[in-house]
Amino acid sequence: MIRRTKHIVIGMVLMFGAAGCGVEPGQPGHVASDTRGPAAAGESQGTALSSGDRIVKTDAEWRATLTPKQYLVLREQGTEPARTGEYEHMKEPGTYVCAGCGQALFSSDAKYDSGSGWPSFWEPIDEGHVETETDRGHGMVRTEVHCSRCAGHLGHIFEDGPRPTGLRYCINSVSLKHVPEGEGDAEE
Ligand code: FE
Repeated sequence: MIRRTKHIVIGMVLMFGAAGCGVEPGQPGHVASDTRGPAAAGESQGTALSSGDRIVKTDAEWRATLTPKQYLVLREQGTEPARTGEYEHMKEPGTYVCAGCGQALFSSDAKYDSGSGWPSFWEPIDEGHVETETDRGHGMVRTEVHCSRCAGHLGHIFEDGPRPTGLRYCINSVSLKHVPEGEGDAEE
């Protein structure tokens, strides 16, 4: 019980100040990934996976491999507080990969400053590397976006982005890992 209470407190901290990302409160404590479910079965722990493979891990395995903040956002659809993420102002060229599984998600070429307080992109690096789901939580209807390989929650998509797509992928920094251009371990 103590551990659970502590977890809830951490979740509330992460919720605080998260109103700028299209009114983005997050949903700590709600394990949406369990209801969404993987599209393909198969246990996989390795890193030598093609982009078409799904990663399915138990809750305990995710807890063991992710930091508490990563777990809260990626697996429980939490939201990091606005203007606290390490990639909000990152301008270095490179690829942003999923912090949960390493799949390439966004290119620095599609990153822009939305002023929202979260890293923002106008398109994913590959349409097949992300999936969306309607999020009706908190009295709003939003489009949630997650990694297609591990189902990790990334953020939400809004229709107030720049050309050419007009979309804003509002993404939690903690869901991403920036791989500098030329370092080559980002999977395209
Ligand atoms: Fe992933």
